[in-house]
Amino acid sequence: MIYFLATFAFIMGLRAMSAPATAVQGMRLAGIAMVVAVGATFFTPGLHNLGWMVAAIAVGGGLAWIWARRVAMTEMPQMVAIYNGLGGGAAAAIAAVELLGAQTGLLTSVGVLAILGAVIGAVAFSGSLVAWAKLDGRVRKVWRLKRGHNDVVLLLAILTLGIGLTLGVSGAPSAGGLLLFFVLALALGVLVTLPIGGADMPVVISLLNAFTGLAVGFEGYVLANPMLIVAGIVVGASGTLLTLLMAKAMNRPIRNVLFAPITGEAAEHEPGSVTGRLKTYAPTDAAAALRYAQQVVIVPGYGMAVAGAQHKVWEMAQLLEEAGVTVKFAIHPVAGRMPGHMNVLLAEAGVPYEKIFDLDEINGEFPQTDVVLVIGANDVVNPAARTNPSSPIYGMPILDVDRAREVIVIKRGQGRGYSGIENELFYRDHCHLVYGNAHEVVADIIAELKTMG
Ligand code: NAP
Repeated sequence: MIYFLATFAFIMGLRAMSAPATAVQGMRLAGIAMVVAVGATFFTPGLHNLGWMVAAIAVGGGLAWIWARRVAMTEMPQMVAIYNGLGGGAAAAIAAVELLGAQTGLLTSVGVLAILGAVIGAVAFSGSLVAWAKLDGRVRKVWRLKRGHNDVVLLLAILTLGIGLTLGVSGAPSAGGLLLFFVLALALGVLVTLPIGGADMPVVISLLNAFTGLAVGFEGYVLANPMLIVAGIVVGASGTLLTLLMAKAMNRPIRNVLFAPITGEAAEHEPGSVTGRLKTYAPTDAAAALRYAQQVVIVPGYGMAVAGAQHKVWEMAQLLEEAGVTVKFAIHPVAGRMPGHMNVLLAEAGVPYEKIFDLDEINGEFPQTDVVLVIGANDVVNPAARTNPSSPIYGMPILDVDRAREVIVIKRGQGRGYSGIENELFYRDHCHLVYGNAHEVVADIIAELKTMG
């Protein structure tokens, strides 16, 4: 009954997370459900090693609590990647224990799921560690075998599964055999993730998250634990949906993300270089353009997160509204470095949800918009995605800010976006750049607006 209630609360929590207004409440509900479910497990008859379990939960939970409270918003994706990986690793560890303890052949549904869960969990573990290292800037290079990388990955996957199933049939597998099996599965995760770079990383993290859910669900079946099965299936299903939605938002089929990644080199040699020249505005010019517009659309991106400028941005928007300007916020689904990154920041600053519009809602409005203010966004407003078939981001839906009457972009210098490609928008006649850290530039614009009355 406790598991049933916890499951119900878990699903209701997840449902609440789908809307910004109820997300925090949903998070709490799911968290409480998790604690209740873990607590209930301690009443399982015949449980031993209680001391070890409590110590592990205290150390793991304590470290996670401290880290989660300290982490900067911009480092959140790395944290998600590593926690997700640990979930996959835990599922693989359960499988290892079950396989080691198996006395007879295991080619039952339980055995097959244990082995599949072990492979998927180990891939999610090592893959997530690579994703963490990449997002944290520790691994910068995209690496793949010069020839036949995908064939090697396929062969390795078949070999790993083959060895796993053989171990399963034989019963009481040797520790050496199991070790080989896990090393190969971990290598598989590394080989699949290392070549992936650029803009594809969020999709990969979401996919690895779905893998972890699947592995946990399988191991829940092995342990006959209904809570683990449900939690695993819910994570697996929502992770899969998120992966598909993000892949759609970036116009990158999953097959291409995994097997034909965008590489740094491709971006470097991007043909069709941009024409035109960069024109700058001082904060005074930007303030005047914004103040005398009828409608302004603000497009935040990763740079706003880095600068922590969201509170200033909302203060500026309120000043403009007081002066009679209609202000809207446009959020691209992959702006920033994690799904919902901009929504979280704007919500934190107090921007009302009804002022925030997503890509489909706002794109038709740009031609009637006087000024678009792009704050630290780049790839998500790059018209090459629409116009340049040779661009690595060609086909990704973007915010059509270039169709507005005037575009003002706040950025620090000539830095490129996450995918490393040039943005022709900045060179267009109706686009002006205000150079500087987003926080300071917006503060300067606020000061100018105040002098204008
Ligand atoms: P972006 O393409 O990464 O561009 C960010 C821009 O902000 C840069 O041009 C940079 O130029 C500027 N910037 C950086 N720090 C700044 C600061 N302190 N003040 C002012 N400007 C600053 O960002 P985006 O348009 O948000 O696009 C997101 C990209 O990340 C996409 O390619 C997406 O696929 C990828 N991605 C998304 C996720 C996700 O889930 N949302 C996860 C991982 C990757 P300067 O250096 O010149 O200032």
